[in-house]
Amino acid sequence: MKASLHRLWAFLKRWKHLNDQVSPLALIANLRFMTWFLAMLVLMVGAGAWLSFQGATTLPPHQAEPLRLVAWLDLAAMAFFALLLAFRKHLVPEAKLGQIVPSLLALVCLLVAGLWSFLAQWFMPSVTLYALGCCFVGTLLLIRPAMTLLIYGLSFVAMSWALGQSPVTGLLLSTERLYAGFASVLGVALSLVLWHRFATAELLRIKVQAQRQQLEAQNQQLQNMAMHDALTGLLNRRAFEIQAEQAISRARRDGTSLAALMLDLDHFKRINDQYGHPAGDAVLKFTADVMAASVRETDLMARVGGEEFMVLLPGSSPQAALEVAEKVRQRVTHAPPALNTVWQVHISASVGVACFAPGHMGSFEQLYAQADQALYEAKRLGRNRVVQSAGCLSSTNPHNSDDLKPSTDRHAANVSPLHNIQPSQ
Ligand code: GH3
Ligand code: MG
Ligand code: MG
Repeated sequence: MKASLHRLWAFLKRWKHLNDQVSPLALIANLRFMTWFLAMLVLMVGAGAWLSFQGATTLPPHQAEPLRLVAWLDLAAMAFFALLLAFRKHLVPEAKLGQIVPSLLALVCLLVAGLWSFLAQWFMPSVTLYALGCCFVGTLLLIRPAMTLLIYGLSFVAMSWALGQSPVTGLLLSTERLYAGFASVLGVALSLVLWHRFATAELLRIKVQAQRQQLEAQNQQLQNMAMHDALTGLLNRRAFEIQAEQAISRARRDGTSLAALMLDLDHFKRINDQYGHPAGDAVLKFTADVMAASVRETDLMARVGGEEFMVLLPGSSPQAALEVAEKVRQRVTHAPPALNTVWQVHISASVGVACFAPGHMGSFEQLYAQADQALYEAKRLGRNRVVQSAGCLSSTNPHNSDDLKPSTDRHAANVSPLHNIQPSQ
């Protein structure tokens, strides 16, 4: 017994939570058709009032009095509906009024229907109008189940009481009360079905939407993972290649120059061998950070191999690229990371620089090959240095811009066709 109650309590709590989720949406759905719903009510209740006033003029005074009272109550209800219609723009889900209007409306509609049924007792005893009101409200307004029970319960009590004040007595009164009860139950059932259908559809929509958002986020994450190197967070080779191709096409179209650096850590294997792979990984991360801090945000950076990195510098002249390469090399060399309190890893890097002049027709493969060749030369010449490819020398055109003026370094270099910068110690 206790377990059953516990289960029931848990079910009700879950049910309440689901209804809480659906409530604001139901409110929006209710408010969406509020204009024509209220307009219809104003017309209906207005017609009822008019008929009652007309009817009262043809009846003897003792019958005309209650009819006039009903007509005035109709008018009051009409004024209420008309007021809501006039202020419908303020009936937003966020406003307190907007939240209570559907329930209030349902209650007033049922009371008006009950009033008409009450009036009918003098002419043709029946609760048909009340029953119609229950069906009308039950099929049109989305009301929370608990509120539904309260509204129909209240209206049934009012209807029962009113029937007791009418001239109907005895078995007929009991029968009418029974019918009013049936009508209320029917209204509750219709309202619950309407709510259940709406809630099921909305909860499904919410779930699908949440799943779609989750999928999109996962997709984004996967895309990110597919494009980036997990250790350094830089672009991976494939993504770099695609983006570099685009940057090269753009530079060709805009008639601007472009350069690329290829950096390889010197004797990196030794760091791994001496301190272990975690230490090597830390050096790789450090190098990536140094590079990121040394180039512009618009430059593309990638880890293209184990301890090889590439940077694409759109719009950079050979001289500017050379300076960036030298800055990165020096920073890598002069600021070795303290991997722990005991070890100080001394690292250095060799850098190959490749360039495309404005209006170039080269591809990414050609730029890559140039940078690789220059890097190879840097290694061959003893490492820890920057070497500029022959392409950079031939791409220089002093008439194009200041950027493209031949650097004094380049003239000084006699390591043709590659230009070699010795490490500054
Ligand atoms: P060089 O100066 O000629 O470039 O010599 P090197 O030792 O730097 O080059 P080599 O190609 O002989 O060795 C590269 C090393 O990089 C070998 C490999 O174990 C290491 N490596 C590659 N990827 C990773 C990585 O993700 N983490 C770590 N810790 N090491 C890596
Ligand atoms: Mg290396
Ligand atoms: Mg290497």
